[in-house]
Amino acid sequence: MAMLSEVTGTMSDEPTRAAMMVEAVVGNAWATDAAGRFVYITPGMLAPLGIVREDLNGSDDPAFGWKPLVHPNDYEAAAASWRQSLRDERAYDATHRLRAADDTFRWGRCSGRPVRDSENRIVGWYGAVLDWEAIRERDRELSQLVDMVPSHVWRLTPDGEPTFFNRRMADYLGLESTDTALGGLAELIESVHPDEVCMFRETLGRSLASGEPFSLRYRLRRADGAYRWMSSRAEPLRDHADCILQWYGVCHDIDDQVLTEEALRRSKHQLEQMIDALPINILSFDPARKLTYASKRYLSTAGMPGEHIQDFEGLAREVSHPDDFPTMFNRASAGFANSEPFVNRFRRRCMDGVYRWIEARAQALRNANGEIVQWYIVSIDIEEEMQAQEALRERERFVWQLVETLPAMVDCASPDGEPVYRSQQLREFLGYELEGLLDTNGSRLMQTLDAGVHPDDLAAVKKDYAQCLRTGEPYARRHRLRRHDCEYRWVETRAAPMRSADGAIVQWNVICLDIDAEVRAQEDLHLAQERLARASQAASLAELSASIAHEVNQPLAAVVWNSHACQRWLAASPPNLDRVHVTVERIIRDANAAAEVVSRIRALFKQTVAPHHRAAIADLISDVGRLLGDRTSRMRVEIETDVAADLPAVPFDFVQIQQVLVNLMRNAIEAMEGHAPKPRLGVRAVCDGEVLRVEVSDNGPGVLYPEKIFDAFFTTKQSGMGMGLAICRSIIESHGGRLWAERNRAGGATFAFTLPTHAPEPA
Ligand code: ADP
Repeated sequence: MAMLSEVTGTMSDEPTRAAMMVEAVVGNAWATDAAGRFVYITPGMLAPLGIVREDLNGSDDPAFGWKPLVHPNDYEAAAASWRQSLRDERAYDATHRLRAADDTFRWGRCSGRPVRDSENRIVGWYGAVLDWEAIRERDRELSQLVDMVPSHVWRLTPDGEPTFFNRRMADYLGLESTDTALGGLAELIESVHPDEVCMFRETLGRSLASGEPFSLRYRLRRADGAYRWMSSRAEPLRDHADCILQWYGVCHDIDDQVLTEEALRRSKHQLEQMIDALPINILSFDPARKLTYASKRYLSTAGMPGEHIQDFEGLAREVSHPDDFPTMFNRASAGFANSEPFVNRFRRRCMDGVYRWIEARAQALRNANGEIVQWYIVSIDIEEEMQAQEALRERERFVWQLVETLPAMVDCASPDGEPVYRSQQLREFLGYELEGLLDTNGSRLMQTLDAGVHPDDLAAVKKDYAQCLRTGEPYARRHRLRRHDCEYRWVETRAAPMRSADGAIVQWNVICLDIDAEVRAQEDLHLAQERLARASQAASLAELSASIAHEVNQPLAAVVWNSHACQRWLAASPPNLDRVHVTVERIIRDANAAAEVVSRIRALFKQTVAPHHRAAIADLISDVGRLLGDRTSRMRVEIETDVAADLPAVPFDFVQIQQVLVNLMRNAIEAMEGHAPKPRLGVRAVCDGEVLRVEVSDNGPGVLYPEKIFDAFFTTKQSGMGMGLAICRSIIESHGGRLWAERNRAGGATFAFTLPTHAPEPA
């Protein structure tokens, strides 16, 4: 009180400063002496009311002085309370309405506390008047603020028990009130989602124990049972001794954000999965060409770019084949510089060091202003495609070389015959290029034919070409074609159509062979053959003559021998005329035989046919059997004759057909000789429609050269002449029949001939 006495009295510097401080800080403060007389009151509180401090001490009643300041209805109670406090030396606290400057009343809170000296005597009172309404207003505003913030606000005791939830949080949790009926910490934890409850408890426990701020994301159950994501933060409020007084926390509902984040994450994941699943590699670069992204597939094929890789150029230089880098980089640089998409095909090194062909396509992503924000480069592996292309090119090269190096002239023509391609050999042969033909004249084919084909062949060639083009049939023809040096050379031209799957002609492929040398050689050969044939004829004639001589010699020798015998029989005495008679008959017979041989041979070579007489073939067969009787019995050949009983008599030259049968049967016997242990000769005669068929079969080795045996002079025998079958065929054919050989199923050969049952018409 001493100090305040001085305040009111002398107002030294220190107290003045103290008063100023009080006024500045507290606003409305007062001080009285022990008896309740005001020694100080905030001047600003009284001045507007037109009263001064002394007016408050105008009566003995310590409460009476401030009566004008208090609402009449409240004054008595407030005065009584003050008097009571003075009397009982107890703290004074009263709430009542106070007069304001505009003569209205506002609720205020008036508090006073006694100040005691060292002997515990009250030396004065200090007090303050608070504008209760303002406080209440502020409190309401604060409550509103706390309730209105779009967050949950809460307060915990130092040991974690909740003491306050704002309205929003209470509503969320379904609590009746914000500060009454609060759930305990256990209830709060029970509202946390089971998946996060452990983490929540542990994190909160750690913060409460350490005093470190609490921060956590978790799902909190709403009153309706739905869980929503919250982001919660809490910090402790400490007193001057650093002890935790309270924990204040906020909790934001971030459910929508989390769901959006999750959806984003999901779609990002899906996108990544899709990118990884697609057989493509993706890289992205920022506008400064710094690498910003590499897809998983890229990393797993090309490998992680080294630390030193700064930008596109570094990466390109690192992974692309040195031979491909310059072109690829130039194209990319041009694309970047002009902000235009670009495509590169080059060999890129894989992790295993092997280069594979890829195709990379780059495209810029632009923002709304059209500025480039990213460059995306998508690349695909085209190794197989490149290999296939290379193989195709190689094949093309091969086919082209094949066509160009074929020892033939090749020409390709469109479906209407117009030449579209000519191999080098053809071009060189003709001496002009396809392009050299005039387009004005219409058909290049006709120009080529007119210019090249020999005039004598031209019409036929054109006709054949026209026929092929009309029908689609292949073309083949020999003709003369003029070479570049104007020499006509024989060529063989063949053309065949190449068709599509549906059968339409897509191209004519033409091959043209220079056969001039061959044709000339053939001509020479032909001449040589003719000469040879003539020479052979001469030679064969000599052989034939020898054979004829042999045939004729025998009967002539017999004639000579019998003539000598005849002479002897005549020179005998007496002459043996009987023997002479017999011998002369033999001479006549043998001479006739010789004459017969000669006339038959003459007839054969003159191709004259002797007069035919109808005769029974059965007689002929038995006749020949008899003729060959000696030989068959010597060789023990079993003869099976099978002659149909009702065979008609047919017209034939008995001697010639006998000669045929003898020849066939003798051949059969000779074939079986030394081959068949049981030689069997079959002779069969049947009537087969208009012809009589005679078959001679054996069980020899069979015919080894069926296509040659009927040729003259073909023989497999040491002493054979090879004329027998040729003559036989000639005889049979001159009778209008046929002679042929067959192989028997059981082995051996069958020779058969036919004779018409009626005489052939004279030619
Ligand atoms: P040659 O009897 O003088 O050889 P041919 O013209 O009569 O002349 O016969 C020609 C050839 O036909 C014979 O050399 C022989 O090789 C073959 N040939 C003929 N008949 C028979 C047969 N029955 N079996 C097997 N080969 C035969």
